Amino acid sequence: KNDKTLVESEKPKETFADVGGLEEVKKKIRLNFILPLQQPEIFKAYGKEAGGSLLLYGPPGCGKTFLARAVAGEIDAHFLHIELQAILSMYVGESEHNLHDLFEKARENKPCIIFIDELDALGGSRHQMRQHHDRMLVNQLLLELDGLQTFNDQVFIIGATNTPWYLDSALRRPGRFDHLLFVPPPEEPERSTILNLKLAGKPLDKLDTAKLAKDSKHFSGADLEQVVKDAVELALERTMEVGSIQPIRQDDLKEALKRRKPTTLEW
Ligand code: ATP
Repeated sequence: KNDKTLVESEKPKETFADVGGLEEVKKKIRLNFILPLQQPEIFKAYGKEAGGSLLLYGPPGCGKTFLARAVAGEIDAHFLHIELQAILSMYVGESEHNLHDLFEKARENKPCIIFIDELDALGGSRHQMRQHHDRMLVNQLLLELDGLQTFNDQVFIIGATNTPWYLDSALRRPGRFDHLLFVPPPEEPERSTILNLKLAGKPLDKLDTAKLAKDSKHFSGADLEQVVKDAVELALERTMEVGSIQPIRQDDLKEALKRRKPTTLEW
């Protein structure tokens, strides 16, 4: 594998309005990442440049990736998604080289969000050879992060992990991933918001999403998205039987909810 374009940069269309709940997290991101780009004079007065890094952590499926894409959407930035597992599966040397290329690409496409998923993959292995490999990649990553800090603005790094406690401690030092933000599972009102967002624009019967939110304790955003997909399928089955568009009913969603198990409990 000698693929220089390991990750294609794209410009996501999502914005914060598409992300249900997470108001605290959005507020922090706005203040630390978005506003410094939009009103640099104010932030410069406080010695703050646009750019920097941020670590999102929390249970799977609660919007870390989605939120990172939405940050890019908010500032009309390029988005580079780095899956560390894929980079780690390369040969020693090749991994570091690829990581460097990705940071180069970000610098050429400013403003840019570099999203690094599964950060905990670094340092999680016990095998001797792998540990050496991981170490080299961590070092390369530190080099890139520190490099950005000294001569760069408008390149933002967002890291994500389900297990921040497994993270290599060198990554948490000042100037690296020093902003740590918890992306929590949605509470009842947020679950209702997420359901409404996922249902928007579809043929709908009269629905009580507040009731569904109440009955979906511990469901993640991803779980709720799946529930809506299943309900769509039930409505589609009916539509095909009848031969005309049938709206999604409360019963479809109730049935779909019954079939799924919440996934944030195991975290
Ligand atoms: P993982 O840790 O498994 O990578 P994640 O936290 O990155 O998970 P996402 O990939 O962002 O989770 O979420 C999966 C999908 O669930 C998203 O594409 C989105 O459609 C939906 N989703 C999750 N949380 C929200 C939310 N708060 N608002 C709207 N949609 C959400």
